[in-house]
Amino acid sequence: QAKQRGRNNYQWYTEHLNRQVSESMTLRNELQKAIEALSFELHYQPQIDARSGAVTGYEALLRWPHAEQGMISPARFIPVAEDTGQIIPISLWVLARACRDARRLQLDGLQGGAVSVNISAVHFLRDNFLDSVREALRASDLPPRCLELEITESVLLENAERAIALLRELKALGVGLALDDFGTGYSSLSYLKDLPIDKVKIDRSFIRDLIDDPRDAAVTRGIISMAHHLDLQVVAEGVETAAQAARLFDSQCDVFQGYYYARPMPLSELEDYLRRARPAALGLA
Ligand code: C2E
Ligand code: MG
Ligand code: MG
Ligand code: MG
Repeated sequence: QAKQRGRNNYQWYTEHLNRQVSESMTLRNELQKAIEALSFELHYQPQIDARSGAVTGYEALLRWPHAEQGMISPARFIPVAEDTGQIIPISLWVLARACRDARRLQLDGLQGGAVSVNISAVHFLRDNFLDSVREALRASDLPPRCLELEITESVLLENAERAIALLRELKALGVGLALDDFGTGYSSLSYLKDLPIDKVKIDRSFIRDLIDDPRDAAVTRGIISMAHHLDLQVVAEGVETAAQAARLFDSQCDVFQGYYYARPMPLSELEDYLRRARPAALGLA
């Protein structure tokens, strides 16, 4: 009986594994076609200044519209693209498009602050990453202070010294630097003081249960206080309710991002959003 079950489990396991492998092969192939056809989109999610309510920036979030499966989440295809190296052309496209879109908003007189672009560690650690950033700025004519790069602690894993040197060069170029998903990595505390960054983004997992779980509230307050002592700004990700926003405000959080304020949206909607947001931010509405 046990033997039988063992064999069935084994069979289930290999079938499951085979299915996973073939699914990811299909995903790779489809990803390749999407890269060649440039069939990606960027959506933008506003970031709100806690005190003034003004829009301080907006995060570029990659979208892959798929014929059969609808939008495929970047959480699903980015890891595949990182494994295959396909992340490089994708990431270059994101960087170029985000800079171009941000410049266009600027030329239209819309004050949205800086555009934040998520950078995969795989791209960041390539030899010519700095050149890709310079090129995106040059091609778009976007001032460097209007671009912010979101990196995660994973850039530090291989060679922290080299990563920190590169971050310094990016700072010298004038772009903003934010540490994404803060609190979920391992090296955060030992490295945080040495990182030439401007901001930390508290991971959504801490914000989710902020109201009901005193431990999440404690960690969140601790992160904010520590970051402020290091002269870093704090962004809260995944703010979904007024109660969370109020609690974060009390804890001195600087910037809010989440569905409570706005969902990620296409550029045209962001333009409308900024047109509407502007008078309110100036107290004229
Ligand atoms: P992230 O950079 O931490 O982005 C925040 C994620 O939280 C986004 O998911 C956003 O849509 C979602 N989010 C924002 N507010 C809320 C909220 O109030 N509630 C909930 N439940 N979710 C919220 P998304 O767009 O699915 O992206 C997932 C991850 O994929 C991103 O996490 C980032 O790590 C990665 N990603 C997205 N775009 C890019 C890109 O262009 N390049 C790279 N390398 N990674 C990207
Ligand atoms: Mg991000
Ligand atoms: Mg994040
Ligand atoms: Mg993430």
